[in-house]
Amino acid sequence: MMIKPSSSACNLACSYCFYQDLALKRDIPFHGFMSDEVMASLIEKCLSEAERCSFMFQGGEPSLIGLPFFKRFVETVNRLNETSHSIVNYAFQTNALTLDLPWAEFFKENGFLVGVSFDGNARLHNLYRKDSKGEGTAQKVLQSISLLKEQCVDFNILSVVTPAMAENVRPMWNYLSGHGLPFLQYIPCMDPFGEEPGGTSFSLSPDSYAKFLMQLFDLWYENLAGGKGVSVRFFDNLVSMLVGFQPESCDMTGICSVQYVAESDGSIYPCDFFCVDDYCLGNILSSSITDLDAKRKELQFIESSPNKSLACSTCQWEKLCRGGCKRYRNEGAYRYCTSMQQFFPYAIHRLEQVARTVRQQINTK
Ligand code: SF4
Ligand code: SF4
Repeated sequence: MMIKPSSSACNLACSYCFYQDLALKRDIPFHGFMSDEVMASLIEKCLSEAERCSFMFQGGEPSLIGLPFFKRFVETVNRLNETSHSIVNYAFQTNALTLDLPWAEFFKENGFLVGVSFDGNARLHNLYRKDSKGEGTAQKVLQSISLLKEQCVDFNILSVVTPAMAENVRPMWNYLSGHGLPFLQYIPCMDPFGEEPGGTSFSLSPDSYAKFLMQLFDLWYENLAGGKGVSVRFFDNLVSMLVGFQPESCDMTGICSVQYVAESDGSIYPCDFFCVDDYCLGNILSSSITDLDAKRKELQFIESSPNKSLACSTCQWEKLCRGGCKRYRNEGAYRYCTSMQQFFPYAIHRLEQVARTVRQQINTK
């Protein structure tokens, strides 16, 4: 369950924000802060349905609702879970501007995995991640990262791949590794919902993405070969697939997964990338999980997601690429198809080599 307790509210005004774009395409872009009634209903319905529950907070900026909300959330989960005994995990994606010691202590105490949005280095970050006065925010984010490290909070870094980042892969990598940040995730900058791709100044072209991936891969592999492994989620998933496991990242499975994304008023959507009116599955206050699932089926959200492109069915990279995430497809064609066709031949031998090592390690355990 991904939860947006602050709806689309944010204390940043990033030019490329996909959620602001989606919110502005709804009848009601901002639903206000989440009430305790909605919070309790989400928790009750999740715990009664699932043996394992992941509550993932996102935004907008989820911290804007304030720390007391999250304390009440965890207290409610603990109280209700005394009878349901579900395994509960928490994650929290943040721009890190409001984080201070009480937040860090709370995350540590309750085992939250925190994702910090930081675009690689201060210069790249400040290009797009500006506050309402148009000022860059990198310094504050770096202070928050230091705080999370000091308090031993589990966290990773989420970066948006823009054309500028694709031109500056090595400085970005050197900066992140120089700051001892070993868990990295990159997402290609998303084009506005329902619009032709490539129409904005921050749109990432397939060539730029290919260049980015190849350079990043060289650095990742170099580090690994030198005994200093850094986790890059995309590469980790590819190795995992070559070893024989399913990818854990939804966008790499080739089919949409069952997800529930809750807006602050309790509206539920099937994916963070589709929080628009046409995809609303119902409201947690009035719908059961079964109702929400039935509406998802009626919309054919998952059923329509497997990649059916003819080109893919004969492509040698299909098992690894799987036609990408539905949100990055335009009339069935994956926006980064040519990126994959450049990247895989470049990286496959080294990926297979890493997979062989991992397989040997598994077999000797
Ligand atoms: S649109 Fe992409 S991220 Fe969303 S459920 Fe489908 S594959 Fe997953
Ligand atoms: S590389 Fe292109 S053709 Fe091949 S599987 Fe991916 S999207 Fe399909």
